[in-house]
Parts: sequence; structure tokens; C-alpha cells
Amino acid sequence: MLTELSATELLAQLEAGRLKAVDVTQAYLDRIARHDGAVRAFLRVDVEAALAQAAEIDARRAKGKPVGRLAGLPVAVKDLLCQRGELTTCGSRMLEHFRPPYDATAVARLRAADAVLIGRTNLDEFAMGGSNENSAFGPVHNPWDLARTPGGSSGGAAAAVAAGMTPLSIGSDTGGSIRAPAALCGVTGLKPTYGRVSRYGLVAFASSLDQIGPLARTVEDVALLLEVIAGHDPLDATSVDRPVPRYTDSVARPLEGLRLGVVREHVGEGLDPEIAAAMEEALDVYRSLGATVREVSLPHGKYAVATYYLIAPSEASSNLARYDGAHYGYRTDVARMTAQLEAERKALTKSGDAAALESLDTALVRMYRRSRAESLGPEVKRRIMLGTYALSAGYYDAYYLKALKVRRLIRQDVDRALESVDLLVGPVTPSPAFRLGEKVNDPLAMYLFDLYTITANLAGIPAISIPCGFSSGGLPIGLQLQAPPFEEERLLRGACMFQSATAWHTRQPELG
Ligand code: GLN
Repeated sequence: MLTELSATELLAQLEAGRLKAVDVTQAYLDRIARHDGAVRAFLRVDVEAALAQAAEIDARRAKGKPVGRLAGLPVAVKDLLCQRGELTTCGSRMLEHFRPPYDATAVARLRAADAVLIGRTNLDEFAMGGSNENSAFGPVHNPWDLARTPGGSSGGAAAAVAAGMTPLSIGSDTGGSIRAPAALCGVTGLKPTYGRVSRYGLVAFASSLDQIGPLARTVEDVALLLEVIAGHDPLDATSVDRPVPRYTDSVARPLEGLRLGVVREHVGEGLDPEIAAAMEEALDVYRSLGATVREVSLPHGKYAVATYYLIAPSEASSNLARYDGAHYGYRTDVARMTAQLEAERKALTKSGDAAALESLDTALVRMYRRSRAESLGPEVKRRIMLGTYALSAGYYDAYYLKALKVRRLIRQDVDRALESVDLLVGPVTPSPAFRLGEKVNDPLAMYLFDLYTITANLAGIPAISIPCGFSSGGLPIGLQLQAPPFEEERLLRGACMFQSATAWHTRQPELG
């Protein structure tokens, strides 16, 4: 089946004229029509626009005119990246009707590369969450077991690839949102170095942690997509001006004498024994390929979850202040609200309660409050409250500033560990996909699920999740590799070595 081919294989066939972009696009659209009713990875699919774009690419190719690097390959985009004129909801009622007037730089680069923008994928509201259950539009279902979470927040992106509904997906990763869903859905996902991919047009969650990155079925495909979206962008002051290597040229070259470091703090208590066993096997595979494995330590790792859950909500509370109901996004019914406010004022005047009258909202403040209260979900509100508290006068030093200091220590731990080894290796998630509904009432359990992924965000380093096995219940397990800043090439080569020696990435879920 065409949809079983990797993006790299599809591209070779498209370039050789053996496949047409229209047929490739149609094949994926058919899969979406067949399976997305159950999986719900996509929030929107624009069939006509995708086919028109594909036809235009075919026509250009037929005339021998130049086409872009991804010409004719469908790419799904997480509904958190602005796409000109298209709904960009961020999984939130707040932005349910928001159509940005511009493209995110990553989206613009996909367009310039002639990728076919096939649809927009579901996510946790504003990317806050790890199970997709925080989406205002209902959760995505894991293609390996529809009763389970695909992970989050880029759950739609990962599930769409796993279900063969797109060969390539764009996600974002603030604390694991590319890698965790990749692991739980049995696909490959990479979080680049902070600054490697422009964040311009990515709706901000936590600006010092957010990165856009690729998901696909193979390491080669992830390399291909990264090559297109990476690079300096004057519109994002944090994007770094460094040349982008041709990752696809080197990805298949094994790393000689590879030295792997197992993070001691990531293999102990709390790790599911089946994941620990899969990791041990993965290490044996690496040894058989000539790698050496030693233990390394991230002594401040035990503070990572606490640090992340101070920094990320602090930045979120500040970033989300822009949703005030005045400029754009959801606005409460102002006529009704004003009438109510008038009625309250009259009643208080009548009863002579001067203090209550004094503290009554102005219409403007009431509009802000109502607009936010009515359109933001409970997890987003929780983060805004946590962050506002951590940043407030009197607590700033004790929480936010302290967290920044610990973040620096974590980065130093990582730098030190990566002096003696080439890559860090470990699990991605503490367990395979859990059941939808299982953790919704336990935010702390949800936060602890991020234990292994947030280090890379706090330290700003690149990290990848690749399939490395299955649980006895048939659920995918991911292996995480992490590299020094801007060593995506090393990361991809190290991942590709493992992929070449194993077949986990070739397994696909039965979808009936
Ligand atoms: N699960 C983490 C959180 O809820 C990570 C989210 C992300 O990477 N966007 O913050």
C-alpha cells in the first residue's frame, strides 16, 4: 500500500515520475476518511485545497519546472502553528474562530518546499498536557488501542503518522510534546535544539522552552523534514544563525566508536519494568553495533519536574495574558454582561452596600474575566494561576528565580554528562500509553509523566524518540537519545544506527 511507504521512498518515486502528487495525496485522504472518525487526529482536513496544491505541483513537475524539496509530500500541521487564512484554534474555545493573517515561518518553509498541507492536527489546549484530553474539541485516540491516549500535546501529529494518515507531521515540544506522543504511538519524533527552528508564528506556550519539530515513521524522514524547517529567521530573535547541515546526506552513516551514557536517575524507581527491559535490549543492540555504554548522572534531575512546572506556567501566564477578549479570540456576550452588571449595581445601590458597590468590576474588567473564564479550559486556568502566583511580588524570588537557578544547574549537569559520552540514552515515558480518563483527575500524576523529557527542554538540547519495542499488551515503547546543542546530525545518525538494526519502526497498528 502506498501509505505504508516512508516519505523518503515516496519522494524517490515522485521524483522518478512513478507516482503523482495527486495520487499520493488522495491515498492519504482516503486513509483519513476511513480511519479518522475513530482516531480523531485531525481537527480539519481541507480535501480540495490539498488536491489542488498536489495537482499544481504535478503540473509544474510535468513541465520540467523546478519544484521544492518536499514536492508532493503531505504534511500535517499541529493546530498551534499559524497558517494564513486557516483556522488556528490551539485546541481552545478561545481561538475557535481565529484565522491568522500570516504563516508561521515553519509553515512558510513547508509551502516553499512544495509540501502538501493536508490538515491540522489536534492537541492539548495551547499544548498544555500530555494526553490530548485537554483539547476543547475532544481527545485523539491512540491507533494501537483506541481506548488509550496517544500522548500529548502533539497527540494528533503522532497518531496521524502512526495510522498512516500522513507520512510527515509537524509538532511542538515544550516539555516532551513531540517525543512522548511519538513514543506512545510508535513513531519517530525529534525536538531540535532551542533556536534551531524558528518559533515565529508558533502560538506561544512557554517561550524559553518551545521548539517546533518533525514526526514521521523513520529517522530518514525526520531528517528530511528537519532540513526544511530548520535555520535562521530574522523574525525570531532566538533562532540561531548557523548553517543547516544536509542531515539526509549523513543520516545513514553509523557513528564509529559511539559512546552512550545511560542517565542513572532515569532508570530507577517509577519506570515500568517492560520499558526498562526494552531499554536493556536496545543497549544490547547498540553494543552489538560497536557502541560502548556507561552510566552518567544528572544529580539535579530530581528537581526537573518542579523546575519545569514553575517555569512553564510562569511563561504561560504571561503569554496568555494577551487573550483578553478585546483584541481577538473569544469575547463574552457583552450586552448580556453589561445588563447584569447594571442590575448588580442597582441592587447594591438600593441596599446601600457601599463597600460592595465600590469593589464591583468595571465593564472592561468584567469583560476580560468573563471572556477568559468562559473559553479557557481547567488545565490552562490552573497553569495561569500557578504561573501568576510564582511570578507575584514576594514569591518571585522564592519560586521563579529559584527555578531559573536550578535550570542552570540542570544544564550544567547535562553539559558535564555529555563531556564523557556522545549521546544520552534512556526512556521517553515512565509507562506505555495509559487509558483515556485514567489520569484526568490527577494533575500531579500527569506532570510526573514528563520526568524524562523535560530535561532536554530545560537544557535546550536536541532529543529524539525512536520505537524500541512493545509491551506485552501490544503498546509501543520509545527510546530517547539526547545530544549536545546543535548536534542534531549526531543524534539522527545515532538513531538511524538503531533503526537499521531493528524493525520496530516498521510495525503498524491494525485499524480494521
Ligand atoms: N506535558 C507537558 C506539559 O503539559 C509538555 C507539554 C508540551 O511539551 N507542550 O507542559
